[in-house]
Amino acid sequence: MRKNGIFVNIWAGGRGKPGVAGAASEHPLEGVAENAARRLQRGGNFPLPYKRKYVPETEYVVKVLERHVEKAKHNLKGAPIVVAGGYGMGSKENFDMLFELAKELHGEVGASRAAIDAGFVADHDRQIGQTGLTVRPKVYIACGISGQIQHIAGMQDSGIIISVNNDPDAPINAIADYVINGNVEEVVPKLIKYYKANNK
Ligand SMILES: Cc1cc2nc3c(=O)[nH]c(=O)nc-3n(C[C@H](O)[C@H](O)[C@H](O)COP(=O)(O)OP(=O)(O)OC[C@H]3O[C@@H](n4cnc5c(N)ncnc54)[C@H](O)[C@@H]3O)c2cc1C
Repeated sequence: MRKNGIFVNIWAGGRGKPGVAGAASEHPLEGVAENAARRLQRGGNFPLPYKRKYVPETEYVVKVLERHVEKAKHNLKGAPIVVAGGYGMGSKENFDMLFELAKELHGEVGASRAAIDAGFVADHDRQIGQTGLTVRPKVYIACGISGQIQHIAGMQDSGIIISVNNDPDAPINAIADYVINGNVEEVVPKLIKYYKANNK
């Protein structure tokens, strides 16, 4: 029904059936209110009416003045090497080591959701996984990432997966091609040192 330029669809029936609201009344919502009152008096429930509104353009309260598309700060999806950090990195300072390692490898930095939630990395668009990016680099280095299904969904098709984790039973190790069993605070600086010395 249309009232003052607004379409009002009322679903007053149970189990998704559209109810005929206010059919015998002049006011479209009157029947719904009466029906609700009767049902509530009987001690029953009454589903809230579902309204869908059509607002004419002249009544818009927001006007788009300009569109600004921000350029991505990284090329995670196209990077051949991704160095990703998880909650096991422990701090923002430790996480910053991954940017140094990625720079040496000409790669990009990704993160698990737990690392982003903890504030170790500011860019939310670096999240890899079910609710983030899906990446398929040639090499994926997972540092301090446990490998929950939601994270694996976004990186399992990587060419070679390397896991750096102090837990030998971390789930990500099961899909990794190489596992470095150790503390990220010791292993990552060694990797940076090694690639700095050999990246000539
Ligand atoms: C609907 C939904 C959607 C989600 N989407 C995503 C998503 O898109 N991406 C995502 O990543 N997650 C997602 N999650 C969250 C996901 O379930 C996990 O909570 C998250 O991936 C865990 O991140 P993590 O592996 O960094 O942390 P943790 O699970 O806490 O793992 C930390 C790992 O670091 C290791 N570690 C600890 N200290 C050290 C150390 N000093 N040295 C070496 N290793 C260490 C530990 O052994 C452990 O394996 C989602 C969850 C839900 C419910």
